[in-house]
Amino acid sequence: MQELHDEEFKSTDCLECANCCKTTGPLFTDKDVDRIAKHFKMKTQKFVEQFLRIDEDNDYVLQSVPCTFLGADNYCSIYDVRPKACSEFPHTDRKKFQQISNLTMQNVAICPAAFNIVEKMKERIKL
Ligand code: SF4
Ligand code: SF4
Repeated sequence: MQELHDEEFKSTDCLECANCCKTTGPLFTDKDVDRIAKHFKMKTQKFVEQFLRIDEDNDYVLQSVPCTFLGADNYCSIYDVRPKACSEFPHTDRKKFQQISNLTMQNVAICPAAFNIVEKMKERIKL
């Protein structure tokens, strides 16, 4: 998977796409919240009130999509401090990739790179 992931992302320009940032939001861990609030020089609670909500699984998520931090040019305005989930998306280079197959099935519908990686993986399995 690592090999397929690296190969796919060599030819993928996420700035031409940004579909993940437009259609689905990341989970924000407490560490993410603290780091990003600090970046904005905001109190954590104020940041949470302004940008986040708690979802049905009790996780912090964005109040709305497309992501508030996505620019019209598809650049992330908080790239250096973005949530861990954003930096790891679409998670196709996870060590225990097989443990997140349900998540991957959702992500192939959003991410063309994840789709291609999974298609290539299916091809390899056939061989
Ligand atoms: S924080 Fe940045 S990388 Fe994450 S969804 Fe928003 S725009 Fe995209
Ligand atoms: S959906 Fe996939 S290909 Fe598109 S920007 Fe996100 S990670 Fe990159």
